[in-house]
Amino acid sequence: MLTMTIDGKAAETVAAFDVVNPATGEVADTAPECTADQLDAAMTSAQRAQREWRTDAAARSSAMLALAEAITTHADELSTLLQLETGKPTGVAAVEPGICAAWLQYYASLELSREVLQDDDTALIELVHRPHGVVAAITPWNFPIALGMWKIAPALRAGNAVVIKPSPFTPLAVLRLGQIMGDVLPPGVVNTVTGGDELGAAMVAHPVPRKVSFTGSIAGGKKVALSAAADLKRVTLELGGNDAAIILDDADVASTVARLLPAAFFNSGQACALPKRIFAPANRYEEFVDAFAAAANGMQVGDPIAETTHLGPLSTKPQFERVGELVDEAIAGGARVAAGGHRVDRAGYFFEPTVLADIADSARIVEEEQFGLALPILRYDSVDEAVRRANDTEYGLCGSVWSSDADRATTVVEQLEVGTAYVNTHAVLPPNVQFGGAKASGLGVENGVPGLLSFTEAQVVHRARV
Ligand code: NAD
Repeated sequence: MLTMTIDGKAAETVAAFDVVNPATGEVADTAPECTADQLDAAMTSAQRAQREWRTDAAARSSAMLALAEAITTHADELSTLLQLETGKPTGVAAVEPGICAAWLQYYASLELSREVLQDDDTALIELVHRPHGVVAAITPWNFPIALGMWKIAPALRAGNAVVIKPSPFTPLAVLRLGQIMGDVLPPGVVNTVTGGDELGAAMVAHPVPRKVSFTGSIAGGKKVALSAAADLKRVTLELGGNDAAIILDDADVASTVARLLPAAFFNSGQACALPKRIFAPANRYEEFVDAFAAAANGMQVGDPIAETTHLGPLSTKPQFERVGELVDEAIAGGARVAAGGHRVDRAGYFFEPTVLADIADSARIVEEEQFGLALPILRYDSVDEAVRRANDTEYGLCGSVWSSDADRATTVVEQLEVGTAYVNTHAVLPPNVQFGGAKASGLGVENGVPGLLSFTEAQVVHRARV
């Protein structure tokens, strides 16, 4: 069994929980169940390590670059673990170590600059950015190490120490990453703990961390916000999305579908920022439905290890059951199945790439985040109506507009109530660009300079000139 890393050392545990391989539905491994004492030890170790870690920005930058190299060296091993616990096809699993290295390199190169607010005869007033101290980082199962590093890299750069907890569905690659980090970073700078939702709740309630960075469901995010409010911990919440993609009537069908469908079904549809509701113009509706259906039918679902596989299984049993339920309910409610529509008849959590047409906005698969291989195509008559319906949701992560006229599309996309508004693309997330949700999709942002600043507390330094 892989061990947790606390204070730079392997932390042994008695209790363990099962980790299931979604490609078989069978237990693949076990992971340690963190005890309350071990969580205390992880927090205390982080607190101790942070006092030294915060003092030398250049040393932090060098250590982060060394960590990027170590992750690159271990990339295959990390991808193999990710594939085992998530069912990602080889190419998709291989993306995550690369993201980790890229985020570390990007943040290692950023400086937290001092800003002069006033410099005159009366005073020199500057704004500086201090680390919070210890950060509690809590992540979901869809991109276990990449979303972890979205938090770890900026938190470390800013001079914080981190205690990270992955999802109980996918703890393996993060445990291994924790060991790699333990070999490169000073003891305690990043501690890795594993366990269920109650461990996440205990981290948020713990007196040591001053900041909680959470990625997960809206329901989970609300609980975190409530608990963190008790002692006014700072929070960043990256939550669910139900992104609309509006296709305008001048869009080229082949190139639009060739880009939109792979985006919607990336990681078997299991990412926050993917197109999850497609709005197609009524006068070209059938043309687009046929093209989406043909593209979906051309995608190969199968063993994640096979080279021919485009789409692996859904990553968890509850998610597999939920997607099946949402699709069944939509069909029972009158939706037309243009492609797929069924669970695949084999062991594991495989679902056919599904395209649903003639579906009402009130269907649950339209109103809620499906997070799986099922895409509803909605018909609209006017662009204003499409925008209104796209915005008629509590979600506000991303949205996109597709057109042969980028200026026209920009005018439309800026009307969407979302954190990121794309034209002719979707779900492109570079490290230097802030990312966060409007409305119930989140609070605060990750990535870019604002993401770095979110791991700091601003301090005014006011020197009177006497
Ligand atoms: P989840 O909320 O069930 O769990 C996320 C993490 O929070 C897990 O580690 C879990 O153990 C922990 N947790 C659960 N309850 C908690 C509590 N009360 N206090 C503290 N921690 C708690 O989410 P999930 O099912 O693992 O992930 C899927 C969701 O994540 C989707 O809604 C998806 O859209 C969202 N997501 C958002 C982003 C983003 O950046 N906006 C990225 C990826 C996934």
